[in-house]
Amino acid sequence: MRKKFIRAIFPGSFDPITNGHLDVVHRGIKLFDELIIAVGRSPVKNALFSPEERVEMISELTADIPGVLVESFDGLTVEYAAKKQADVILRGLRSLTDVQYEFQLAMTNRSVAGIETVFIMTSEEYGFTSSTLIRQVASLGGDVSKLIPKTIYNRLQQRLKKS
Ligand code: ADP
Repeated sequence: MRKKFIRAIFPGSFDPITNGHLDVVHRGIKLFDELIIAVGRSPVKNALFSPEERVEMISELTADIPGVLVESFDGLTVEYAAKKQADVILRGLRSLTDVQYEFQLAMTNRSVAGIETVFIMTSEEYGFTSSTLIRQVASLGGDVSKLIPKTIYNRLQQRLKKS
C-alpha cells in the first residue's frame, strides 16, 4: 500500500522560539513528511518580536531540517490548517497542566473542523521552559541562555537593551 503524505502544522506564538519548541520540531519531523511551523499573528501580551522577526529567526534555526517550513498566519488555526491541507495539528506538552488546556483546544478543533491533534512530550530538561517566562526573566536581567538557542539569546539581549 502506498504511504500517504502527511503534512502537520505546529501553531504557536513562538515569542521567542525556545529549545523546548525546537525539541518538539525535531521529534515531530520524524513522524511527518512535512511540518509547517505556523507563527500566529494575533497580538501577544508584552510581545518582544514581530511576527516577521519570529518567522525570520525560526527559519534560520530550521533551514537545515528537511521537510520543515515556517510561515505566519492570521485568524483561526483550523482555517489555516484547511488552507494548507494539513492532516494534523502538532502541539507540544510539558506537563499535566498543559494537558488540561490542550485537551480542550484539541477537542474544540476536532469538533469544529474534524482535524486531529497530535501531541509530543518534550524532553524533561525543557519541561519548565516557556516563552512568557523567558520574556519576563530576561527583561529583569535573568540568565535564560540555557533555554533558548544562542542566536535568539543575542537578539533578545539587543532588543532588551533598546527598550
Ligand atoms: P501558544 O501561545 O499557542 O501556546 P506557544 O508558542 O507558547 O504558543 O506554544 C506553542 C506550542 O508549543 C504549544 O503546544 C505549547 O504547549 C508548546 N510548548 C511551549 N513550550 C514548550 C516546551 N518547553 N516544550 C514542549 N512544548 C512546548
